[in-house]
Amino acid sequence: MNAFRSGLVYGALLAMLCVPFTGQAASPPPPRALVGGTLVDGTGAPPVKDAVVVIRDGRIACAGTRVACPVPPGADVTDVSGMWVTPGLVDAHVHFAQTGWADGRPDALDVRDRYPYEQVQAGLRNHPERFFHSYLCSGVTAVFDVGGYPWSWDLRMRAANDPVAPHVAASGPLLSTYDFWLNVPGEKQFIYLADEKAAREGVRYLAANGADAVKVWYIPAKTRSAEEMATVVMAAGDEARKVGLPLIVHATDLHEAKVALKAGARLLVHSVDDQPVDDEFIAMARANGTIYCPTLTVYEGYMKMYNAFFTHKAPAVDDPNGCVNAVTLAHVAETASLPDDPAPVKQRIEPRLAGVNAARAVMGDNLKRVLAAGIPIAMGTDAGNPLTLAGPSVYAEMEAMQGAGMTPIEVLVAATRTSALALGPLGKDLGTIEAGKVADLVLVAADPTADIAALRKLRSVVRGGVVHPLGELAAKGR
Ligand SMILES: [Zn+2]
Repeated sequence: MNAFRSGLVYGALLAMLCVPFTGQAASPPPPRALVGGTLVDGTGAPPVKDAVVVIRDGRIACAGTRVACPVPPGADVTDVSGMWVTPGLVDAHVHFAQTGWADGRPDALDVRDRYPYEQVQAGLRNHPERFFHSYLCSGVTAVFDVGGYPWSWDLRMRAANDPVAPHVAASGPLLSTYDFWLNVPGEKQFIYLADEKAAREGVRYLAANGADAVKVWYIPAKTRSAEEMATVVMAAGDEARKVGLPLIVHATDLHEAKVALKAGARLLVHSVDDQPVDDEFIAMARANGTIYCPTLTVYEGYMKMYNAFFTHKAPAVDDPNGCVNAVTLAHVAETASLPDDPAPVKQRIEPRLAGVNAARAVMGDNLKRVLAAGIPIAMGTDAGNPLTLAGPSVYAEMEAMQGAGMTPIEVLVAATRTSALALGPLGKDLGTIEAGKVADLVLVAADPTADIAALRKLRSVVRGGVVHPLGELAAKGR
């Protein structure tokens, strides 16, 4: 450790000494050409075999056949034959204010006696790089944090300054129809939509702080009427329109999802899971240009955690490339040895678990309906929730989308181009391998157009034109 550190310091000093003090601009690095791979560009176009991708100054200069994209003279050529080249993945639904385990969600399973919530939050705020690395290591080159503490806004710049981080967009605190207690004394992640005035003030607060979107957590509260909650959501949507921010809504029941669409939702971050979506839902989504992010697998993470808690068996971790940091892995394993007090949790959870399978079936059917109707579909995991781990959870999510009836290439377009679209302005230069776009790519050793699970066979991640072999990234995640 010390030797490594002093090596770094020495290297930095050397680099400083080597900077020429002539005042002349350094010559730009040569273009890089990735040659011989199969290009799957994220637009939905058929794959191009024996392709060339030319990268210049961190952007795609050209991508296509050897004829269309000749290797420029002096290029730094990398042979990627045998590989598939796809855009970096974009997770359109994540939360940096959650850990991937119970310590970030004491409402689900309370471990605050071991891991006080305020300390967990301070850790998340101070060390987001743990998750930056696990995203990049899993091929995820951009994410949308759709709800957290105000510090989530700062992650955008912190990620931009970290060469081993995804691009980050952030909506900031959530506007909630339900008065949720999960806050810390000095800061809120949930702003309660008590009435119309609170809704408009909440939106203006988000806008004043440069939020990328207004996120509404539309949870039916037993203490309020459906009309009252619809009124405050409509007010939030109206104010979002006035301040020019896109509206993102968490709504899992058809009734709430339709109110969200009436309020102008541009992105729905969950499936409708209580009943089939109807023609009115489809028509409103189409009129709005709404993006539907099905978030299929997050419930399964909760089930895995509860199962481990009830049976005292450590949950399996789906992390094929060793990207998840050691602290998270240790916490997940600890689920099996938590004190045996399952009765209250069991009583609370069992009725809900019983409904999960039925909900999942409805979610799959609705994804097919929405797809058939031509509504754009994004990919999002809700990472940060228990056992939905930042980074590798994208694989199971994409496989579930394929399992619900999307073709592999439809899933890939969802997880790249359409998810980038969901990010708003940040995403306009991301999501496809086309001239002018940021050179965020992944190299995989199997064909993702035959089976989306091929993306597990990740070999390298290119972020802003810089090639990171998987081994280097996996080591960073530890
Ligand atoms: Zn979420």
